[in-house]
Amino acid sequence: MKIRLRVLGLAFLGVWVAGFAVANPKPAPDPAVRAPVLEAQYAPPAEAVEAHVLGRGETLSEVLTRAALGGPDLSSLVLAVREQVDPRRLLPNTSILVRRWTESGSPRTVEVSLNADSTVRLSRNSVGWTGQMVVTPTVVDTVYLAAVLGEGGSIYQAVLDHPGVELPRKERESLVWQLAHIYGWKLDFSRDIRSGDSFRVVYQREARPDGTSRASRVLVAEIVNQNTSLPAVFYDAHGDGGDYYDEKGRSLRLQFRRYPVAYPRITSNFNWRRYHPVLKRTRPHLGTDYGTGYGAPILTTADGVVSFAAWDGGYGNLVKIDHGNGYETRYAHLSRFQKGLRRGTRVKQGETIGYSGATGLATAPHLHYEFRRFGEPVDPRTVRLPAAPPVPRSQMEDFRLLTEQRAILLSAASLPQPEGPLRADALLAADALLEADALSTN
Ligand SMILES: [Zn+2]
Repeated sequence: MKIRLRVLGLAFLGVWVAGFAVANPKPAPDPAVRAPVLEAQYAPPAEAVEAHVLGRGETLSEVLTRAALGGPDLSSLVLAVREQVDPRRLLPNTSILVRRWTESGSPRTVEVSLNADSTVRLSRNSVGWTGQMVVTPTVVDTVYLAAVLGEGGSIYQAVLDHPGVELPRKERESLVWQLAHIYGWKLDFSRDIRSGDSFRVVYQREARPDGTSRASRVLVAEIVNQNTSLPAVFYDAHGDGGDYYDEKGRSLRLQFRRYPVAYPRITSNFNWRRYHPVLKRTRPHLGTDYGTGYGAPILTTADGVVSFAAWDGGYGNLVKIDHGNGYETRYAHLSRFQKGLRRGTRVKQGETIGYSGATGLATAPHLHYEFRRFGEPVDPRTVRLPAAPPVPRSQMEDFRLLTEQRAILLSAASLPQPEGPLRADALLAADALLEADALSTN
């Protein structure tokens, strides 16, 4: 599903620079609000609502039958659902609301909630059932935060306590998590942050009427850590969802993730002289072992091309990935490969390439991970890892222009803040920029 929202700029000299999504017109005013007031009368509710939940392994037809919508209604209902969504792809615990006329007990509408944003609403007319996809409207907000950390202060607490912004607590936590992720290779929030450090963030989000986000993104941020400025500008250089760069277009990430599993637990380190438990002799251990249990997803540590995915002696089921510039990673003892993975498959960093096991020379399920440079095994935990690719030279002009605009946005989240968090002039400039720059979600 691809929704693109165009944003009309609309500045408030308060907290928000808010834009309204033109794609979602305002709801019509409720006629009841303007109708003349009548004497209160007792009237039984016109409809009764029943809630049903799709059980694990249950089909939509089964739930509908259980809800007394079998018989002639059933095929028409299922057909109407199928026009909007494949009923076989409904997840367990999908909620299905049936509204009936109280008088006759006959069904009026059926609502199938696909997720927080989308509901299939089915209604009955004289010929049968028709379906409609109802999508929750959203507005695009741009939120500015800035703070100087005092003694014992943390970015987490400063974002959580930030005055003057209307963000639910969950959103604030998710924003800190996003920041920690963006700066993950440069800073450890729990260790490196000092009193006197500061941060500024411009955060854009698509908000639902209940205040939760459908999508959100840090557009630009700056952390000043022990007098060193660390800017982060979001830019989509490769058309693959974008990344964060410093003001010179250098990636904030390293090319390789540190760990090939989600919950790393190292059971054996890189070691030129190790006693091998299966071979019962000293043999160099040219990789790192991660205790994983059986069937844990194995994640590639960098973008690359699969150069090998097959059985290889003591390695058991082995995947090798070529990352260019002489870098190669190996993932051994897998119980199975990811479906469709073969020599020549392109993989993205963090993609699941297989599942842990104990194939080949292994006494228990674990992942044996190797990192090689020009064929030479090196310890990935001590080697100096290369940075992820910078903004390509051909896009530097575009990136420089964006960075200038982002710097203006950032100045709207200015420090210090004697009368509120925003400066009017900076806000107006920021607003003009945002008009041309809508958040798009995929
Ligand atoms: Zn090993």
